Parts: sequence; structure tokens; C-alpha cells
Amino acid sequence: STLTAEGTRDPYPDWKAGDPVPYAALCTTFSKIEMTPKRLEISAHCSLFLRQVARLTPDDLLPTVLLMLGKLAADYAGIELGIGESLIMKAIGDSTGRSLKIIKEDQQKIGDLGLVAAKSKGSQPTMFKPKPLTVRGVHEQLLAIAKIEGQGGQGRKVSGIHKLLSAADANLPKGQGVDITLNKGGSSEAKFIVRTLEGKMRLGLADKTVLVALAQAMTSHDIARKGKVPSTDQLAKGEGILKAVYNELPSYEVIIPALLDVGVFNLRQVCNLQPGVPLKPMLAKPTKSITEVLDRFEGKDFTCEYKYDGERAQIHFVAHGAAEAMATPAPLAGKTSKGISNIFSRNSEDLSKKYPDILAKLPDWIKEGTQSFVLDCETVAWDVVEKKVLPFQQLMTRKRKDVKVEDVKVKVCVYAFDILYLNGEALVNKSFRERREALYSAFTEVEGEFAFAKYGNTDQLEEIQVLLEDSVKASCEGLMVKMLDGVESHYEPSRRSQNWLKVKKDYLAGAGDSLDLVVLGAYYGRGKRTSVYGAFLLACYNSSSQTYETVCNIGTGFSEEVLQALYDKLKDLVIDRPKPFYSHSSGNKDQPDVWFEPRLVWEVKTADLTLSPRYVAAKDVLGDASHRGVSLRFPRYIRDREDKKPDDATTARQVADMYKRQESVTKNKGPSVDDDF
Ligand code: ATP
Repeated sequence: STLTAEGTRDPYPDWKAGDPVPYAALCTTFSKIEMTPKRLEISAHCSLFLRQVARLTPDDLLPTVLLMLGKLAADYAGIELGIGESLIMKAIGDSTGRSLKIIKEDQQKIGDLGLVAAKSKGSQPTMFKPKPLTVRGVHEQLLAIAKIEGQGGQGRKVSGIHKLLSAADANLPKGQGVDITLNKGGSSEAKFIVRTLEGKMRLGLADKTVLVALAQAMTSHDIARKGKVPSTDQLAKGEGILKAVYNELPSYEVIIPALLDVGVFNLRQVCNLQPGVPLKPMLAKPTKSITEVLDRFEGKDFTCEYKYDGERAQIHFVAHGAAEAMATPAPLAGKTSKGISNIFSRNSEDLSKKYPDILAKLPDWIKEGTQSFVLDCETVAWDVVEKKVLPFQQLMTRKRKDVKVEDVKVKVCVYAFDILYLNGEALVNKSFRERREALYSAFTEVEGEFAFAKYGNTDQLEEIQVLLEDSVKASCEGLMVKMLDGVESHYEPSRRSQNWLKVKKDYLAGAGDSLDLVVLGAYYGRGKRTSVYGAFLLACYNSSSQTYETVCNIGTGFSEEVLQALYDKLKDLVIDRPKPFYSHSSGNKDQPDVWFEPRLVWEVKTADLTLSPRYVAAKDVLGDASHRGVSLRFPRYIRDREDKKPDDATTARQVADMYKRQESVTKNKGPSVDDDF
């Protein structure tokens, strides 16, 4: 196949061994990927290209992979794209000499800024040919643009984008002239630069596909160097290794140099979980009742922990003296009296500026002999007078950035529930029983500062009921029920696992789990609400098509103050028309008054889920014969989920699962246990 035969296709003509990878070559691959809906073909294009890079210009493998992912760095580096439309339009105008008015009109007509950029470039007379863009160069410039902050930042961003676009070619899809109506095709550099800036490549290229393609490319590459062709087994082995390594160490910055250095098959020896690189947290599956838990975990030992209602935190620490001994020194920015440390959110964002108080107290909880660790915990607001947990809303009133220890009003207590690494050893592949023992052995509780999550090990319905009630009295959301022994109890980074079940008090009232949805649009208010938005259009995220699929309109659950605050937040995010990656019904009366950049994620509760022709959520997944999507009945706003990015919203798969589970419960067939991966 194309994957295994060495050099069956010519590399891009202008690209010779040792040359920087031409950006045009990557864009050609993007356009091939874009033109096919077939997963295998997408993966083949991707891996073939990566293999060429590995063979000709291995130094550029890292920026190539990052640009394929539409990223500039690992998530924990905190470098954000998703540049607003207005800045991009301005830069397109500046670099092509077209007026903003015309660009806006084009955007109204075409609806895809990438194509608007390509068209603008195409209609520009070319006086001289700019120096060709390279993958390395584009990556560096995008990085520089993303890092611009502070006063006059917007202007500098525009000029950065201007510079990039000036050097980009248009490469309009053939036969389409300047009147582009097609949404696909064309290897235009301008188009892909703009899409990267927008933060959505929309190639149908899932992150996992890139990972698998990289594994295939590197396995083939390694084996080809020995003059052989890889077997299916070898390809599968390489893929297994890379996936396992990436799960524990989600950083291409660390993995790719190691891959090039030691090869796929030796990767495990040099790449392991390490403090400084946050893991994607393990997540839980919802359940509707305690009896469902008992059914699912029947015959297994499990434990019921309180589900604290705060913010997920992954705390990394390396003691002074231990850091020097590590192979790769941990990049931990936070300082404590005993060593370097950092706190990461569930999104791998750096929270150390939000919780300097935690970093200051951390040395008090560490027992003698604890040299390095990665802790999984929940930070919860703490009432110092009453000595008890406070509701989540209190925690939300804390500032998110540049907090000074002396200014902290809302104190937090850290509830630790898992440990993933201790004293140089990864624990993710140990049983939860062993991990819990390790946790207790390495830390000491300090009232109001650090505690172990409360739990009970029981499989008796009545006792679980009591634990649940107690947890709620203690201001928790309910219980997390976890497997204790064997492979099933291993820590599964980034998975919503069936070995962790959540039982929230609200589900028991029949409401079901809440959803986290992206705000796409709004309707102007009526009556008392005329100066603000009165209702909103929400969507879930389809991770395979990388689109936001509408799921409901919502106008309930907002106080006057909240509506005002949301209006202030949203008014700067207004765009002229829906993004091409918004999937919504085309009915005239279903259009919101304004559309937004995809930024805000809200937690929403619903009475139940139903099929509706007005919404498109999970339509593909369910394949309903009359093309209806899932929608929420009586949705109610709960809170702004500042800790979630739009792509962390509830997925179409999860919405479909919730719908199916509800169906099967109504039909009494027992719940579906489909995994959402
Ligand atoms: P939600 O928090 O709204 O339930 P989620 O998608 O953030 O949804 P879930 O998988 O549903 O996450 O629930 C797990 C979350 O519960 C964790 O991310 C963590 O923040 C929190 N949590 C509180 N107590 C525990 C505990 N004892 N064990 C694991 N997670 C806990």
C-alpha cells in the first residue's frame, strides 16, 4: 500500500533532503485530506507526508505535526489561537489592498474566511514572487502572533498576520475562478493559514488520526532504514506503543525528538509520565441510580468516594535535589520552599497564578521522603469559621490570574483522590487500591488545607444510599464510584471510563446528567430584557466532523444580573454570520438574531431529551430515518464553565448515548454502556 512502499510517490518537487519542509507541500496534503471523507485515506495521506518529513527533514517533524493538529504547542504551554474574525479580516485587507467593506461582503457571501483570504490573494496582481513559506517559518510566525499580549497587541497581531498572508500563495481551486462557492478543495496557503488562526482546521482530521499516522510513519521509516517493509504486526505494535506513551506524556515536544532519536520500538524506555507534563484527566460515566451502579460493578470490589464540587487540579511536584537527578528536568514554573511545583486544570492550563496559596501551603502536607509526585485532586472553597466545604459558586468568585496570597478571600481546601506518580515511578498502571495506599503513605492531612477524599467501600444499597446523602450534606455533588482492583482500576488518562461512575444527587430526581454546551447565537430579549440577550442557541461538539451541532434554545435559569453579565461578555464575540463549522437547521425562523465566535461553554440541565427537526445534534451518530437531531426539553442554565474550552463541550456521541440510555430506560431494556470513544 501507499503506506509501506518506500518512496512510491515523489516528494514535493522543490523539497530536497535537508531543506526546510515547504508549507505548500503540507497544504497540498491538507487539500487531499479535505477532499476525502474516508478515514483510511485521510490517515494514509497524513502518514505518507509525515514519513517524507522524517526521511527528508526530520528537524521539521515537530512543527509539521503541530500544524496538522492546528496547534502551536502542547496544551499546557497556554498558547491560544482562535483569533477573532475582525482582526483576520483587517489583515486580509491590509495584505491584499482590498477594502474591509469588500472583504466583509465576501465573507457574507462565502462564509469561510479561509476562502475569502484565498480569493483576495487570487485577485491581487502579483508584482513579484515572495519567498516560499516553510512549515518551520509559518509555525514560528504563528507562535509569535499568538504570544502577542498587552497594549497595542491587536495592531501587532494584525501586522503579524499581514506579513504571513503577504507571503502566502492563493492557489485557488481550479475552474472556480474568483467566484468561490465550493467549500472544499484548493491547497491555498492563505486558506490554511487563516483556518489555523481561527483555531479550526476542519479537515476531518482528528487528533487521534494524527497520532496513529505518526506511529505508522515512524514505524515504516525505522524499518525502511533497515531495508525492510513493516509487517501489519509491527505497524500495530508501533501504534500501540505511541498511543500508550502519548497517554502518559501528551507532549509532542518531548516525544518527537525521542522518536527520531531512539525509534518507536524503544520509545517506552525513554518516554514516561513525568512531572511537568500534565496528563489529560480520567473522567467518569454518568449513571441514573445506585442500582445501575450495582448492576455494572456486580461481583467486583469498588469504592464510593465523595464527589467534591470544585475545580479539578493536577498538582505536580519535584523536591529540590530530585529535579537535578531526573533525565529531563521538569518544566515546573511554581516555586515552593521544598521544591518546584505546578497546578494544572482539567484542560492542562497552568493554574499556579490562580492558586499561589496552594503552592505556599503544599510543603506542609508532604511527608518526609516524598520527593516527587503527580496528584489528582479537587480544589474546593472552604469556610474557615464553620470549618466546612462551601458551594462551588464561592470558588468561582476567586480571581483567575495574578492572585496574591495576601489578597485571597476565598480559602480553598485540596481534596486528593488519586496519585499518578510518586518518587520517580509512574503509578497509572497499578490498581487503585495500591495507588490509594501510596497516596496515604506520602501525605498528611492538614485541616482546611489538604484532605483525602472521603470514601466508603461497600456494595450494600442502603449503605451507599447513606453515603450519598452524607456527601450531599457535606456540600458535595454526590458520589464517584470506582473499581478497586485489577486492570479495570488502572488510571486511564483522557478517558471517560466505565470504571469510574458518577452518581449525582440530581440524577436521582430523574433529571439526568447536565450537559456542557457551546453558545453559538442569541436572540434579543423582549419586555424587561430588551437591552440584553434574552435567549441563546446552544450546541454540542461533534469531534469527528469538528463541528458544533445545535441542540437547543435556552431562556431559563438566568437572573437579571447573569443576563447582563453574559451580554457584556458576548457582545464582543458577535460575528456577521455563522462559522462554516456550525451545523444548524436552515429553517428561517430558527436563525438567532446574532451569531458568536465559539468561546463560552455553559452547564445546562434538562428535563429530558427528544428528537426534533429543528436541531441537528447527534443526527449522524443516531442516523434517525427522518433526519431529526436530539434536542433538550426545558433546558435550564446552571453556570458558566470557565474551565472548559468549546472542544471540551459534551460531544455528539455523549448526547446520543444520553438519548439512547433514556430510551432504553423508558423501554426498560437496561442502560446502554457504549463507550464514547
Ligand atoms: P461534571 O464535573 O459536570 O460532572 P465533568 O465532565 O467535569 O463533569 P465528570 O467526569 O463528569 O467531569 O466528573 C468528574 C469530575 O468530578 C472530575 O473532573 C473532578 O473535577 C470531580 N471530582 C470530585 N470529586 C472527585 C473524586 N472523588 N474522584 C474523581 N473526580 C472527582
